Amino acid sequence: MFCSNCGKEVDDKAVVCVHCGCAVGNYGQAAHNQGNITIVNSNTMNGVNVRNRSWLVTLILAIFGGILGLHRFYTGYFGIGILQCVSFGGFLIWWLIDIIAIVLHCYECADGGKLV
Ligand SMILES: [Zn+2]
Repeated sequence: MFCSNCGKEVDDKAVVCVHCGCAVGNYGQAAHNQGNITIVNSNTMNGVNVRNRSWLVTLILAIFGGILGLHRFYTGYFGIGILQCVSFGGFLIWWLIDIIAIVLHCYECADGGKLV
């Protein structure tokens, strides 16, 4: 096996190159992949971790579980979710408003994430 950084030969089981100190082989590859997964699932806004949710999942949760506040739990509004759950979706009015907002793409997640 050869170091991908300096090109010198290193032991096949080595995790760090003895010539330049860089991570080599499977260890380096795994760390690299993990970094990519983090980037795909989240982005940062003002230093706060923001997570986008699925628009379709939110809409389905709102239609079938909206009176229990399921879409609110999914999008990070835990307090409002509990309120909607105990008030039967805000006596169905709140439930209807949320579905319209999701359909019109006016709905935002608690952490500023968007429905995509
Ligand atoms: Zn090296």
